[in-house]
Amino acid sequence: MWNIEEFTEAAGITVRELAAYVDESQRGAVPVIRREPPRELAERLGLRDLIRDGGMTPGTYQEFLRTFLAEGTRLHHPAYLGHQSASPDFPAALADFIHGATNNPMAVYEMGAAAATVEFEVLRWMLAKVGLPAGGGVLTHGGSLANLTALLAARARVAPDAWENGVPDDLVILAPPSAHYSVSRAASILGLGQRSLVPLETDALGRIDVSRLPEISGKRVMALVASACATGTGLHDDLRTLGAWCRERGVWFHVDGAHGASALLSDRHRHLLDGIDQADSVIWDAHKMLRTSSLAAAVLVREEGDLDAAFRQQASYLFYGDQGFDLIGRTVECTKAELGLKIFLNLAWRGERGLGDYVARQYATAHRFWELAARRPAFDLPYEPESNIVCFRYGDADQAAIRERLLLDGSFHLTSTELGGARHLRVTVMAPATDDKILEALLDEIAAVATY
Ligand SMILES: *Cc1c(COP(=O)(O)O)cnc(C)c1O
Repeated sequence: MWNIEEFTEAAGITVRELAAYVDESQRGAVPVIRREPPRELAERLGLRDLIRDGGMTPGTYQEFLRTFLAEGTRLHHPAYLGHQSASPDFPAALADFIHGATNNPMAVYEMGAAAATVEFEVLRWMLAKVGLPAGGGVLTHGGSLANLTALLAARARVAPDAWENGVPDDLVILAPPSAHYSVSRAASILGLGQRSLVPLETDALGRIDVSRLPEISGKRVMALVASACATGTGLHDDLRTLGAWCRERGVWFHVDGAHGASALLSDRHRHLLDGIDQADSVIWDAHKMLRTSSLAAAVLVREEGDLDAAFRQQASYLFYGDQGFDLIGRTVECTKAELGLKIFLNLAWRGERGLGDYVARQYATAHRFWELAARRPAFDLPYEPESNIVCFRYGDADQAAIRERLLLDGSFHLTSTELGGARHLRVTVMAPATDDKILEALLDEIAAVATY
């Protein structure tokens, strides 16, 4: 049994330590990243002794937690410009804590009626936002699983008996080479193989060239995949034109909105998703721009039955019945976390307006970075950013070495990507604390550490 007093004391310590951690992080008072070698960290954290002997107390827990927090990556830090993982907001953090204590794995209604109902309502809200109000959905542990699930639904549409008899060999998936790698993985996991992937023609920045869409003969197109936005560049495919092309041919239109669908909440940026309501399926990660911890991703489909058909031969529909409803028929997972609660509490606290303002602010800050960099002749900026992702090069310097140096110093966390055959540095503005001052400091720092 829990010792309630001990729990209350440890939880209090956790809150105080996390509060201090987020406070010093968002003030930028400490390095954004530390990467000690694992052997030294294991030693310093006393991992082996604790695993073997246990015996942690509130006092030793506090000490452990302080070191644990200090030796990681700080996503609230203004210099955190790295991967697209959310700088989490605290209501979502509370949801993780609640889930950790209650553990209501609500894929079947009897394992968490409140959690299941919250997920259901969050999904209805997301479906309405993407313009599929009559559709169905489910939350999964991440965008990669969400892409797999959506493409499984697409496979069930074009080859309904594949579930029973295996995959026919005439199915192809149309996707740009810039699509997230989970799409090509899904092709192999689904049994279509890499040979089923037909790369779409793109412009120099990886966007699908809608004037050069292929005419496929002798094969059945299982789905066309578009990005909103692309992971590497943060640029959007032309959903309206692609949607019309798919509709004319009866092709399943899948929109990977893992990162960018949240821009639907910003009046200024919603136009980037114009045409998303033409999709047969959409994925939308809350753990990117809706500020929840990893992971909480939505699979949303136009026809509710299509999602259930993904995992069986007969479609069914979810209703609010007296006995509740089971989401388990629509997921790869069996046991599932209370993912809806994370999204719900952020919404409940900030409202869709507050989350939309956050998206707008991050996109504007990234645009500002682009403007500031463009004033400096050594920076090469291949495109004007549409989202909070910006790619650039500093002269002919070794771009990877610049990044490695900044990470080693703990001064900035940024990533890099290949674009047009050349390595580019890549900034993703995730933390609300990032401002002009830190962006100017980054530009100075890059110039200072560049080697040729
Ligand atoms: C991040 C991302 C994914 C993968 O999502 P995970 O939650 O990391 O599995 C898929 N597609 C796009 C466009 C993404 O940006």
